[in-house]
Amino acid sequence: MARVIVVGAGVIGLTNAVRLAEAGHRVDVLARDLPRETTSAVAAALWYPYLALPQDRVTAWAARSYEVFADLATDPATGVRMHSGTEVFRSLTQDPWWRDAVPSLRRVTLGDGLPPGYADGWTFVTPVVEMPVYLDWLVARLTALGGTLTRLSLSGLAPAGEGGADVVVACAGLGARLFAGDTSVVPVRGQVVVVRQFGLEEWWLDTAGDTLTYIVPRADEIVVGGTEEHDEWSRTPDPATAGDILDRASALVPAVRGAVVVRHKVGLRPARPAVRLEREGDVVHCYGHGGAGVTLSWGCADEVVGLVGSV
Ligand SMILES: Cc1cc2nc3c(=O)[nH]c(=O)nc-3n(C[C@H](O)[C@H](O)[C@H](O)COP(=O)(O)OP(=O)(O)OC[C@H]3O[C@@H](n4cnc5c(N)ncnc54)[C@H](O)[C@@H]3O)c2cc1C
Repeated sequence: MARVIVVGAGVIGLTNAVRLAEAGHRVDVLARDLPRETTSAVAAALWYPYLALPQDRVTAWAARSYEVFADLATDPATGVRMHSGTEVFRSLTQDPWWRDAVPSLRRVTLGDGLPPGYADGWTFVTPVVEMPVYLDWLVARLTALGGTLTRLSLSGLAPAGEGGADVVVACAGLGARLFAGDTSVVPVRGQVVVVRQFGLEEWWLDTAGDTLTYIVPRADEIVVGGTEEHDEWSRTPDPATAGDILDRASALVPAVRGAVVVRHKVGLRPARPAVRLEREGDVVHCYGHGGAGVTLSWGCADEVVGLVGSV
């Protein structure tokens, strides 16, 4: 059993903390932002490998996370639900590189219900995670296992022995630029419009071209997105962008046009040429999950537990 400090209380830090506590370690999470203030709280959050590499590790992590989320979806208190949905394309497309991570994926063709202007698509059942509910659930699970969560902004990596920890697990997301001195982590800004639920059960996604459009149903709300703005730091929602998002989404699901807007949100995805998950001395690094932190969380956490070892 080790004494582990996890830095970061987004979906990555909390999932790692829960798995480490389940493995019998003593876990304390330190974070500048509490869970509902993080990028993770803004995520849509559809299980979908997006803006994260390398493909082989991402596919394996995503497949493992899919299994865990499918299991969590049997308990409504987790905020996880399984939803069928469709990704659409304007031209014929090959199966996705992460095809092996989902149990089934069915091609959708013209005449099979594709919206106007689209030529190809695929449909599959995937976990959808209501992040505020889910992050609270992760904290409750951690606490029930004896772990703690404390607000603390750290200026950098202290030697693991300092403060009594055997191992530090660094999950600072975009904060790794300062915290781990890694400037290869860059923000990819995402803006969403949250509208009141109007009876939508299926998600829709269009990632082709230079825009990103999605409509993701939750119990009482629908998350409508989005944007993918590289190296853009503003967390202030832009009204013109919100209008554009709603226009694009209405083309896929016309009822979005008349939906009641509940709020606007922006998050900065922690993008990196490749997710960093490795041990360096007494530090396990786990950050740079781009647009797929939720999707990869449980698969990464299993690997982190292995890297922490039994100390
Ligand atoms: C609009 C939008 C939609 C998205 N949709 C999806 C989706 O559908 N599916 C999906 O899988 N992913 C999605 N994502 C991506 C997902 O949100 C991220 O990949 C994920 O949140 C990254 O999690 P994280 O825990 O690494 O980082 P964060 O959630 O940013 O958490 C980082 C934590 O580290 C802490 N920290 C940073 N620096 C320090 C420091 N110096 N000292 C102490 N603590 C520090 C922060 O305070 C915070 O607690 C979306 C993102 C956005 C913005």
